[in-house]
Amino acid sequence: MNNKTNRGMVYLVGAGPGDEGLLTLRGAEYLQSAHVVVYDYLCNEALLKMAHNDAEIIYVGKQAAAHTLSQEEINQLLIDKAKEGKNVIRMKGGDPFVFGRGGEEALALVESGIEFEVVPGITAGIAASAYAGIPFTHRGVATTAGFVTGHEMAGKEKSDIDWDKISGLGTLVFYMGVKNLPVIVEKLKKTGRKGSTPVALVRWGTRSNQQTVTGTLDSIVGEVDNVQLKPPALIIVGEVVNLRSKLQWFDNKPLFGKRIVVTRSRTQASFLCEKLKRAGADVLELPTIDILPLSDQSLIDQEINELEKYDWMVFTSVNSVDIFMERLFNSGRDVRSLYLLKLAVIGNETAKVLKSYGLVADLMPGRFTSFAVVDEFKKIQCTLNRKNVLIPGSLIAGDVIPEGLKEMGADVHTVAIYENRLPQYRVEQIDKIFQKTPDLVTFSSSSTVNHLVEILESLGRMEYVKAIKGASIGPITTETAVERGIELALEAKEHTINGLVDEILKNSTGV
Ligand code: SAH
Repeated sequence: MNNKTNRGMVYLVGAGPGDEGLLTLRGAEYLQSAHVVVYDYLCNEALLKMAHNDAEIIYVGKQAAAHTLSQEEINQLLIDKAKEGKNVIRMKGGDPFVFGRGGEEALALVESGIEFEVVPGITAGIAASAYAGIPFTHRGVATTAGFVTGHEMAGKEKSDIDWDKISGLGTLVFYMGVKNLPVIVEKLKKTGRKGSTPVALVRWGTRSNQQTVTGTLDSIVGEVDNVQLKPPALIIVGEVVNLRSKLQWFDNKPLFGKRIVVTRSRTQASFLCEKLKRAGADVLELPTIDILPLSDQSLIDQEINELEKYDWMVFTSVNSVDIFMERLFNSGRDVRSLYLLKLAVIGNETAKVLKSYGLVADLMPGRFTSFAVVDEFKKIQCTLNRKNVLIPGSLIAGDVIPEGLKEMGADVHTVAIYENRLPQYRVEQIDKIFQKTPDLVTFSSSSTVNHLVEILESLGRMEYVKAIKGASIGPITTETAVERGIELALEAKEHTINGLVDEILKNSTGV
């Protein structure tokens, strides 16, 4: 961010319509370096995790339970924070200059001599229709289009909207119009739109709870009434709406509308979450494991000094690779010091991370369990007699591999480099996830099961355990889940994250 004066700057940033991926690169960059973030109701709060830990986050949305700021107070807040020398992100849903009062805020900044920039966002009118499979314009169907406020008629004697002029546009998209739907329909019909004109309402467009109602000018009020559709929603009027029947692509994804809880550790969850989101799921992240590198790493540092004495190294998780590599680089060495070693891994994700450091695993069993590693060593008939094996891993690592390899004659050194901690949650956070029973809770290891039950137990919410329908990565996790009284909906055939997702997709109709 540039900052020409010792005053701060204000960045009016469009947060996009809701789907986190629809924030612009510039918006993300500014969000990451802001001192203050002022946001409102239509911004997806998930975007806030991009902000710096020390950033001051201020909610000024109208839906706030307690205090809400008037527009003047919001303007003043932006001015005051900028005068304190801070860089302020004013984040608004969609685009700041499309029915967002961004223009008014910019004018107030100009009057106070505060520098500002505008970062456009994808406005809901474009995004929600796209996600509903409705092109805003379409050759031969709609060659003109317009955005209209659906809000202004309430109680107004004379409308600022020239209905005669706009009514004939190919596509009309009304913002803030749900309450006024009957008035809008009437005005359009009076100004020449046929009762058979197709109409769609899209609520919470681009989000996993997107809801679409379609009909015609004649039927839409009844259709909307039937499902009691509430704001925020757009009203899309025009022949383009008919294209939805062919172009629907988002809200017919296999997991669309399913609420799936992911219990993996924070560092490992993203891959699973991404896959589930791509399949349309509403993913609720509830990490049950915090992976923390041990503060005292002197033991592994010592081994790193003597790497040449080792013949094999075994990595049982992605974490062990990452943390070991960090120690290796920290010692001033790099992967060349591993050139004499052979490497064994559990899991293709571990192999993948290893490869990202330029290293290819020499041994990776088809099944991703500790027993399989030992079997694989037996299978390749390599002699481990008097061979030195280093296993950097978790503080709570089991002894299946070390014992198995010792039996084969190896001299095994296990070194703890990280620990798995139980994260702390407030009961409200847990209630938010479980009060409406999730369709599925994923478990990718026994610890995720044990930790989730411990978290729920410590917060006095054991009733949630009974309501869980689990998706387990494999037999060992399943066994733990059964012991803990968790009902399982499915178990992955291939014991990997991909395998878990495949099985969830296969079961998606029943989930
Ligand atoms: N600046 C915003 C619009 C703010 S006006 C933008 O560019 O998108 C608020 C109205 O926008 C809501 O009443 C609703 O009509 C519409 N809206 C905003 N986000 C929406 C979404 N995700 N889905 C459907 N409509 C949305």
